[in-house]
Amino acid sequence: MIVACYECPKCGHEMEDVFVESPASEHCPLCSKCGKRTIWVPKPPNVYVFEPYVEEHLFEKPVLIESKEHLRTLSRERGVTSAALE
Ligand SMILES: [Zn+2]
Repeated sequence: MIVACYECPKCGHEMEDVFVESPASEHCPLCSKCGKRTIWVPKPPNVYVFEPYVEEHLFEKPVLIESKEHLRTLSRERGVTSAALE
């Protein structure tokens, strides 16, 4: 699965589209806010692949992080931020 990110050069609105195969970067969708043609923002694919791992530094004891949502929930509960969520 590939997530393509588009950004509107006029209003800065960001949109994402999910593709099974590599998207055609020249066929950017129109901005859903202002209607201008968006530009494709290439992002490294590993940003979107989440492998379960043991987080040893963020919390008071090691925690097996099962998903990005799991990490987000834990981080919110503990009031910390993780670079893995950016
Ligand atoms: Zn726009």
